[in-house]
Amino acid sequence: MHDFSTTLYRWYHQNKRDLPWRKTKDPYKIWISEIILQQTRVAQGTDYYRRFVKKFPNIRQLAVARENEVLKLWQGLGYYSRARNLHFAAKTIINEYHGEFPATYEEILKLKGIGNYTAAAIASIAFSLPFPAIDGNVYRVLSRYFGIDLPIDSTSGKKEFAKLAAELIHLEDPGMHNQAMMEFGALQCVPKNPGCLSCPLHDSCFAFEKQLVDYLPVKEKKKKQGERFFYYYLFEKGPVIYFEKRIGNDIWKNLYQFPLSEEPHELSEKEILRKKLPFIENGPATFVSISTKRKHVLTHQIIWARVIRLEISDDTVINKALIPVNKKDISKFAVPRLLELFFDELKWNT
Ligand code: SF4
Repeated sequence: MHDFSTTLYRWYHQNKRDLPWRKTKDPYKIWISEIILQQTRVAQGTDYYRRFVKKFPNIRQLAVARENEVLKLWQGLGYYSRARNLHFAAKTIINEYHGEFPATYEEILKLKGIGNYTAAAIASIAFSLPFPAIDGNVYRVLSRYFGIDLPIDSTSGKKEFAKLAAELIHLEDPGMHNQAMMEFGALQCVPKNPGCLSCPLHDSCFAFEKQLVDYLPVKEKKKKQGERFFYYYLFEKGPVIYFEKRIGNDIWKNLYQFPLSEEPHELSEKEILRKKLPFIENGPATFVSISTKRKHVLTHQIIWARVIRLEISDDTVINKALIPVNKKDISKFAVPRLLELFFDELKWNT
């Protein structure tokens, strides 16, 4: 184990990427970076991180922001509950911790949107507390190097990996240790075609020796991706279009969109045209066009979306719950990436 750690740290010091959040011990900034990086690649996440901490340089500024501002900054990153939880937790820190970021693992874990992994990452990096942060990268490295074939998503597997990770943690510099593990998994011991031949650990790596690199780590369940069919209605009256706000416990909560009709199965063009027009009350609407089908892949679902474009001459016919928006103002609204792609298709500059 000693050899593993010494070699890993040497590798880390020689290969680590120069990332903005590695230059700080500010728990607020580490928190933001960890949340952004939960489901986002570093290359994309870095720009978002810079913009976020520029606009909200501390907890207080984030706590007093309007939710739409926070979501707007998050636009394109997906998993918007991350942004909503950041905002909520910032308010908690102001109200319950006098604006001071909590400094124990247990207290950090209580904040909304923070699980074991993120709490351990913040506690170790910002406060030098010896908690191992175990993300997908770490599971992969441990499973391959130590030859553990228990499923990483099973209770027994999680327990075993947590025990091993706790034994390995560097007590004086747990933040460096956690970052080294994650960086090694992200750059060297990657999921497909890892760099085994150039790997400084290959002499003692179980998976490399037994030719099991492609089989480890093991996963118990593979989630099925469900398909959904979205039909957006774009009503236009001169420069004015209409948005609705997404509510309920679904993807993209509190983001804005063209009024949406979701169908349980795919509709042909004929079926779309024959359907009674939603969002409109007995008034005239002139059909303009139907966009081609756009495929949008999320982690556990595939969305097939089309935009039905209509012109109206009388705004009294439109459902009162919809929000009239001048096209030049659409950039002020946080919208899902899928809708932005339709804006591009319509050649609207946002
Ligand atoms: S030898 Fe290959 S599988 Fe083993 S730790 Fe190195 S990169 Fe990972």
